[in-house]
Amino acid sequence: MRRLLALSACVAAGFALASIGGAFAGDSTRERATASALRGLVDLTHPFNERTIYWPTAKEFTLTQVAHGHTEGGYFYAANNFEAAEHGGTHLDSPIHFAEGRQTTDEIPLRRLVGRAVVVDVSAEALDNRDYLVSRADLRAWERQNGRIPRRTIVLLRTGWDRYWPNAERYVGTAERGQDAVPNLHFPGLGADGARWLVRRRAVKAVGIDTASIDYGQSTDFLSHRILGAANVPVFENLNRLGRLPERGFAVVALPMKIDGGSGGPLRIIAVRRP
Ligand SMILES: [Zn+2]
Repeated sequence: MRRLLALSACVAAGFALASIGGAFAGDSTRERATASALRGLVDLTHPFNERTIYWPTAKEFTLTQVAHGHTEGGYFYAANNFEAAEHGGTHLDSPIHFAEGRQTTDEIPLRRLVGRAVVVDVSAEALDNRDYLVSRADLRAWERQNGRIPRRTIVLLRTGWDRYWPNAERYVGTAERGQDAVPNLHFPGLGADGARWLVRRRAVKAVGIDTASIDYGQSTDFLSHRILGAANVPVFENLNRLGRLPERGFAVVALPMKIDGGSGGPLRIIAVRRP
């Protein structure tokens, strides 16, 4: 049964992706399948703008207009420059972020960033505890309800914190900027016991969370980052709308900007639900 569930999730993802390819076939059945698959897409990405939340010490997102209007050539032309830290808004943490010698953004294989996924929902537990740590016990409890997490799964942790975005005071615990604000950070994260278990016992592909960091706001040793990074497991942070997903039976496509030597980068991440 478990194998069947795992297989059906792969088939759902494969179907959706194949259907997108089918859009070019011109066959009406395939076109209907494509339309159906596209309705199953969920954008898990926050927009990048002047309200996008960054670590208190990190450079925020700025968009500078270069051109916007009609040119002397008779055509319209728009272009901007943008600047931002790698780590802010919906983004990827590459393994090297906290693990020397591990993969940089451009080195992460695509197969790590695309595939079957599950959502572990701890939003009820985290609601009253902004320092909540997702534990191995939470992950085991999820498995008792939903079956074993297959190897090579992308595990998304839902704390419900996206409901506070983009209010920094509520989302990370402080709207202040700079080093002095760091001790005031409060938001849920993944406990080290949970990170170790996901790596050692479930050989996960990647881990994502709907808060500003995979380590909770009060962390000073960033152990979950270090454990995941050491195993070349990339992390997705500041995810949005995980509440729109089933607990299992869907796939994730997470494509960061391919920064050579990057320790992370802005991320466009979507889920592909079963049609
Ligand atoms: Zn990060």
